[in-house]
Amino acid sequence: MPELPEVETIIRTLNVLVKDKTIDHVSVHLARIIQRPDDIEEFAFLLQGHTILGVERRGKFIRILLDGLVIVSHLRMEGRYGLYSSEEPVEKHTHVVFHFNDGTELRYKDVRQFGTMHLFATGEDLVSLPLSKLGLEPLDESFTLEQFKKILTGKKTKIKSVLLNQAYVVGIGNIYVDESLFKAGIHPEVTAGSLNESQLERLHTSIINILLESIEAGGSSIKSYVNGQGEMGMFQQQLLVYGRENKPCVNCGSIIEKTVVGGRGTHFCPTCQIR
Ligand SMILES: [Zn+2]
Repeated sequence: MPELPEVETIIRTLNVLVKDKTIDHVSVHLARIIQRPDDIEEFAFLLQGHTILGVERRGKFIRILLDGLVIVSHLRMEGRYGLYSSEEPVEKHTHVVFHFNDGTELRYKDVRQFGTMHLFATGEDLVSLPLSKLGLEPLDESFTLEQFKKILTGKKTKIKSVLLNQAYVVGIGNIYVDESLFKAGIHPEVTAGSLNESQLERLHTSIINILLESIEAGGSSIKSYVNGQGEMGMFQQQLLVYGRENKPCVNCGSIIEKTVVGGRGTHFCPTCQIR
């Protein structure tokens, strides 16, 4: 599943590919992708003639901003966008096609069919579901140490579960939560409210730095994720703990362990990450 850094890479790429393009018409081949409005013909009708002004991110959602409208898109497991010429054959699992008036088209492909799109009038999307329930944006100025402390204070839940909860902080995701906790030297099963001042500071800094480093890794290797059709894939940065069970810790040589926290596979060093 793409996480915040991957989605950030995707929106930066999409911005280059589709900004200023005007939609001639839209084809929807799988109704369930379109969550709002209920009627897929209305979705297509409303978008006709609108121009893409830019592409932004909120958590792991992609916001395609048009003149007067916003498409809020979530890729879930395997959704992906690609820019094609209208003459290129349409591949299997292509569910939504935005046909532009310059002969190109943005195609949304999704093998697992879990992805979603919601269409709103400009200004409505941030105050409506699904975006309205989202917590702090970890790379925004609003994600201060003070705000982070406020979230964790008094919480009896495991720190990993709190960090995965999109209602508190958005978009970190399973891989980067494991990496952040490793960098901060905090055991994933520690009670969130029990972290001391220096642990809170280390964790806050780790989250921000890991996400920024991942975005940079994605940004610098962006070409390898965009194929000839402009289709974007995912990247994986160098991971220190995630997926390294039974391998030696890069810091201390202890064997990395794997457990389950909040239903998610969780990797940690039993020596570096204290309870
Ligand atoms: Zn270690």
